Amino acid sequence: MTILDAHLHLPYWGTDIDDKSRILLAKLDEHSIDYGIVIADSLGESTIGTSEEIVRLAGKEKRLFAVIGVSPLAGINLHYVANTLDQKRAVGVKLYPGHEPFTLEDSRLIPLYEELEKRRVPLLVHTEWTKDGKAVPHPSEVARVARKFPDLPVVVCHCWKGNALEAVATVAGLHNVYYELSSMLEGDAREAESLLSTLMQKAPSRVLFGSDYASCELDGQLEKLSKMVRGDARTKVLFENANKLYRLNV
Ligand SMILES: [Zn+2]
Repeated sequence: MTILDAHLHLPYWGTDIDDKSRILLAKLDEHSIDYGIVIADSLGESTIGTSEEIVRLAGKEKRLFAVIGVSPLAGINLHYVANTLDQKRAVGVKLYPGHEPFTLEDSRLIPLYEELEKRRVPLLVHTEWTKDGKAVPHPSEVARVARKFPDLPVVVCHCWKGNALEAVATVAGLHNVYYELSSMLEGDAREAESLLSTLMQKAPSRVLFGSDYASCELDGQLEKLSKMVRGDARTKVLFENANKLYRLNV
């Protein structure tokens, strides 16, 4: 079976981009993962690769695809984003609201949403629960953006791990929200199991496997997943859904 990991990062260790990409590719080989989507950092300089570095890497490695990282705090170069997408050198754009101090409804993001919606290119959104028990971004904020831009595919990375079931209930019913399992299969995966049993009934074509390597350990994740979803459902989660959403044609 073909396996596509829809959420990868270069390791923060390794001497340079070439060395880091060798480490990543060796890890994919170790787990028989055929293709990977590598997500860039949103900052000007990064140990896990800037957008330019990840785009260049994906241009060299046929198995890898790039997601650009942007931030309204650093200023978004829309010209660069649009050109890179049009040249098919990246397959998505990621925002880190909460992780960085801005919200999804920041007016500076509207031109970005319009560019992505026009092209039907996915917007990836970092989601999490803060230590004081707050969902960031709030699921209703994601829901408002998804409703306002109905042709914009919105990928919720990490599915608000920690209180996933409650959070995803808020965006349930929105046809353009996708659920990406990054970090949920690391360690204790009971939450992932109950989330998957809900999602595979309600949105079986919008669930994506992502490991969040090298932020997370990849070992054991695929084994856990294969016990939770079987047959055609597994093929969808591990490959078909992401291949279709990101239009990778692999
Ligand atoms: Zn990540």
